[in-house]
Amino acid sequence: MKPDIKDIGREELSARFKEWGQKQYRVQQLLQWLYGQRVSSWEQMNNLPKALRAHLNEAFTLGTLQSVRKQGSNDTTQKFLWQLADGALVESVLIPANPALYGDRSDRHTLCVSTQVGCAYGCKFCASGLDGWKRNLSPSEIIEQVLSVERTHNDPKNKLVNNLVIMGMGEPMANYDNLMRALKTLNADWGPNIGARKITVSTSGLAPQIRQLADEQEQFRLAISLHGATDEVRSRIMPVNRRYPLSELTTACEYYVERKGKMITLEYILIAGVNDHPAEAPHLARLAKRLNAKVNLIPYNKVEGLEWERPTENAQNTFTEAVQQDGINVTLRREKGHDIDAACGQLRLKTERELKSTER
Ligand code: SAH
Ligand code: SF4
Repeated sequence: MKPDIKDIGREELSARFKEWGQKQYRVQQLLQWLYGQRVSSWEQMNNLPKALRAHLNEAFTLGTLQSVRKQGSNDTTQKFLWQLADGALVESVLIPANPALYGDRSDRHTLCVSTQVGCAYGCKFCASGLDGWKRNLSPSEIIEQVLSVERTHNDPKNKLVNNLVIMGMGEPMANYDNLMRALKTLNADWGPNIGARKITVSTSGLAPQIRQLADEQEQFRLAISLHGATDEVRSRIMPVNRRYPLSELTTACEYYVERKGKMITLEYILIAGVNDHPAEAPHLARLAKRLNAKVNLIPYNKVEGLEWERPTENAQNTFTEAVQQDGINVTLRREKGHDIDAACGQLRLKTERELKSTER
């Protein structure tokens, strides 16, 4: 199978062009077509010699994502469902900037991207893991989510996406090498040029890869899907906690904070009767203090077919205040896109179920 042209970075491309006896300025021209103009065919690259285009076509694919469904409007959260070359479905969510959350201008957007088809980690509350894990996304499939969204906006001069969160379907740290290739390209000045500090990787807690991320040159940010501040609560809803219990996860996070000098975020979804008891709050606050971390509380987004519920607003506020009392930096995120299945994996699940029911 041919690799996709966006699976490799500038250095590898340079080496290829050298082998082919091509001038090095051609590399920059090609990169400009790929990431500047975001073209989707070799034919469009009209300043490259025909012979070179034919050569490229023989050696590489130039894949794009098929948009199969879109929900939401331009000034609200938009959700994109993509079909990949093998028919698999993944999703991306475009969220208008929340100045309170990121301190950005309101014309800016955060894009949430997927890294795997399905997920093997089976967190009990999550739609992405319901049908198990199918495969890893390639670097180009991760990158293309950003480019495809930019294409819908069609303004090469003004970028739509200035924040990336790796919080879509899948466990990014379980697809580490492809993820890093994708992020390095997305961050590169010859690529989409999204600042490393504007890219946040979210993980359910894969301790070894958290250390690996800490050792990378780039200052990518880290968010931990905590959801339980004691092993007892966490293990009940996140099987990964048996493999990497809180003590191990915490020391990996400490390593990251030490190496990077960057604040991390602890994500904590509030699920009624599971992790929202005020008695859990001091455990969460203690962990946040130890890691000097921000806490993001997110009311649970109901998943069809799962028993879990979001707590009442009253219970959400009580829990938030209980964490705050310890002087912790905490936000309660009244979730955007709640009405359009914006939480991870939900649009894909719904679409697959609808497709199945029409096949019957
Ligand atoms: N696998 C990674 C990244 C993808 S999940 C991780 O777990 O961090 C992105 C975030 O969405 C995680 O914090 C996850 O716990 C959360 N999430 C999953 N299902 C949700 C739901 N129904 N409502 C709210 N948040 C949810
Ligand atoms: Fe996978 Fe993250 Fe969902 Fe857990 S929360 S099942 S790790 S996508």
